[in-house]
Amino acid sequence: MPIVSHATEADFELFRRELDSFVPDNICDAHMHVWAKSHLPPSGYDTFRQLEEDVVDLAAYRRRMTELLPGRRVAEGLILPGAVGATGEQVRSQNELVAAEVAENTGWRGSMLVSPEMDGEYVREEVRRLGLSGLKCYHVRSGLTITWDADIPAYLPEAQVKVAHEERLCITLHMVKARAVADPSNQHWIRHYCETYPDMQLILAHAARGFNPYHTIEGLAALRGLPNLWCDMSAVADVGACEAIIETLGHDRLIYGTDFPVSHLRGRCVAIGDGFVWLYDDTLDWKTVSFQPLQPVFVGLESLRVLKQAAWHCRLNDSQVEDIFGNNVRRLLGMVRY
Ligand SMILES: [Zn+2]
Repeated sequence: MPIVSHATEADFELFRRELDSFVPDNICDAHMHVWAKSHLPPSGYDTFRQLEEDVVDLAAYRRRMTELLPGRRVAEGLILPGAVGATGEQVRSQNELVAAEVAENTGWRGSMLVSPEMDGEYVREEVRRLGLSGLKCYHVRSGLTITWDADIPAYLPEAQVKVAHEERLCITLHMVKARAVADPSNQHWIRHYCETYPDMQLILAHAARGFNPYHTIEGLAALRGLPNLWCDMSAVADVGACEAIIETLGHDRLIYGTDFPVSHLRGRCVAIGDGFVWLYDDTLDWKTVSFQPLQPVFVGLESLRVLKQAAWHCRLNDSQVEDIFGNNVRRLLGMVRY
């Protein structure tokens, strides 16, 4: 089981050496999770269950951010529910928690966990009642036996996208299928939803699920020219996908996200062949795989390194880097319901 750990001297040292001069002072986090242990399904979610807090709220998040982003102010962003596989009353409770955090914390917006069977009018009423600004869908909620190959409407039906348009909501979409945004079905539905519902802001999580960057490099060209399309780069640790977003959609479409608590796991996702694999500190015996000592660091640090490389390769200036860490998210959230 991957462990959500505290920063070690190796993490702080890597930040000081590689990232301190790159990361701006003020940060807007477009992808982070809150949850309570009581929201978690009985099996799985061990990574979420192990934190000492019963309720992992913004206060808990802020404490952890001092270890990933030392000296930085993270006072704005988009809150997503954490137990995305929750059922029944747990879904409602999670959405209530997100709403409570939004109500108590200026600068933060929140998204509602949705299931495909939810009626559009129910989603509209709940979003209004809770004061939320977005929707969070997830493939495991599709009801399919095999969810990793689901077409987007199986977990994000068009009726909900229509409501998102009418209510000016954003939607965080972690797409699936083996080749992610290089898959024609994913391209079709993303373009169809964005063109048909222009007041809905669609965020493709994880660099368009670019854990294998070649999928994003290959597929993103099909999504040029959509003014309501954005990509967060959370948890991505291979170079290439962020560059493709900057070059294909523009740097003003790339937004920073930590994917807390994933940010505080050790290891990284690695592209292999036409797929990818997550290597955590407990996936293998690190002492046996290298001729020299290896120490996995926070996923969140690996993804910051990737972003720095992308900024370097694309010759971004300081103000463009600040856009990715804050202004783009602010602009996006300014377009959505408040
Ligand atoms: Zn996430």
